[in-house]
Amino acid sequence: MVSRVIPVDPFDLVIFGGTGDLARRKILPGLFRRFCAGQMPEEAQIIGAARSEMDDDGYRQLVRDAIEEFGDKPVPEGGALDAFLARLGYVQVDATGTDGWEELSRRITEDRVRAFYFSVGPSLFGDLAERLHQYGMASGQSRIVVEKPFGHDLGTAKALNAVLAQHFDETQIYRIDHYLGKETVQNLMAVRFGNVLFEPLWNAQYVDHIQVTVAETVGVGGRGGYYDKSGAMRDMVQNHLMQLLCLIAMEPPAKFEPDSVRDEKLKVIRALEPVEPHHIVRGQYDATEKEPGYREDVEDPKSRTESFLAMKVHISNWRWAGTPFYLRTGKRLRARTSEIAVVFKDAPHSIFGAEAGRHRNVLIIRLQPNEGMTLDVTIKEPGPGGMRLVDVPLDMTFADALGPDADEVPDAYERLIMDVIRGNQTLFMRGDEVEAAWAWTDPIIAGWAARNDVPKTYDAGSAGPEDSLMLMHRDGRKWREIKA
Ligand code: NAD
Repeated sequence: MVSRVIPVDPFDLVIFGGTGDLARRKILPGLFRRFCAGQMPEEAQIIGAARSEMDDDGYRQLVRDAIEEFGDKPVPEGGALDAFLARLGYVQVDATGTDGWEELSRRITEDRVRAFYFSVGPSLFGDLAERLHQYGMASGQSRIVVEKPFGHDLGTAKALNAVLAQHFDETQIYRIDHYLGKETVQNLMAVRFGNVLFEPLWNAQYVDHIQVTVAETVGVGGRGGYYDKSGAMRDMVQNHLMQLLCLIAMEPPAKFEPDSVRDEKLKVIRALEPVEPHHIVRGQYDATEKEPGYREDVEDPKSRTESFLAMKVHISNWRWAGTPFYLRTGKRLRARTSEIAVVFKDAPHSIFGAEAGRHRNVLIIRLQPNEGMTLDVTIKEPGPGGMRLVDVPLDMTFADALGPDADEVPDAYERLIMDVIRGNQTLFMRGDEVEAAWAWTDPIIAGWAARNDVPKTYDAGSAGPEDSLMLMHRDGRKWREIKA
């Protein structure tokens, strides 16, 4: 593969919350990688803006430490890091007051793309938008990037959209869902719409069911306070799993352009049926000898928030009527793995007789680890002994397919930030999409409260509560194993 890095035009990027966890772990190391890849022009300027008191040099040291700690490989020799740090500056800013705003506006370059990354809590989004406007930084060339969570429910999401819309047009607002920046997720679209092979089969006639699993091994750790107010539904399903579901289920957009793609995703969300309570399993991980259980982690012995969620979902349209989508996500599970499995139906008639057993084509799209795709194909078991059938994987691990260039594949944050600079909103959520997703999840969450639903406990290191296995078994189906 030939590596093609397309440089972007000079830009100013202001990271509000530039000293925070997300900036240090993801955004800044990602920007450094783009710099090393030659994508960042000489004149680009990155400004950290946060509450802490510090000067430019102090910030450069903070960023140096972050890149050394969180970068995915050793810092290259030859002064690349120094050259990157030279593009950085810092302004101490109070999002809710007046401090620092004049200084920030002085530092912004006229007549070029300026992106403002809101890497702060959502309660500050409105203040930031307001002040960018007030201090003359909200020009037509401005873009704002907002982090999750985008609202807590439909009401708060609408309010947030309204606040941002006061000062920015929808074409200037980039709502990040980093799942959309993953290489494999985009490959899902390439596979569906770049090949003639899959699309004719991509419907209820040929697909038995689809499974989406996002499993984590970590617990809620230090984020207990935040997590307990949100749970797996708000933290993972309403955004990441729904976005994956949309890309799997949507109709072919006319063009790979922001509104074409987002219109089709929105139609999927609007076609989601309400979920029957008995099609949902919620869980909380149990304590082990060494580690606390969910309720200890969040310091609420009566917490009813789920750290695991499995559900069967239906999409009411011609393409998918009758084909269930099973979604599953949770913490403290057996392995850290994310995958989509498209399980095709049996061949309509087996010429090999009952003894050949049941064989199915399964297309597995692995988001992590080992990003790639596998297609299970049924073939004759090699050797003598008659016609015995066996399923073998046609395996394409991207790292193998791309060879040495695999290292050059930008991670989700890097890709999305560069898309912001380029002004490409295709991989960002539109306001109406987010609201539609909340409109679907809100009644489900309200139902749990109304029924006093108590999550089942599950063993840490397992595949979740027993009931989630039953959700599939009842339908004569089986979850794929959660394994690294
Ligand atoms: P953090 O608490 O580590 O950092 C918050 C940052 O905001 C700091 O730089 C702080 O100085 C700044 N800040 C706070 N109040 C301010 C004020 N009044 N004026 C100016 N600056 C102020 O938070 P984080 O973990 O980096 O998260 C930032 C945002 O990203 C949050 O919305 C969070 O939900 C979201 N997010 C974080 C992660 C993650 O992995 N950390 C993942 C996804 C989304």
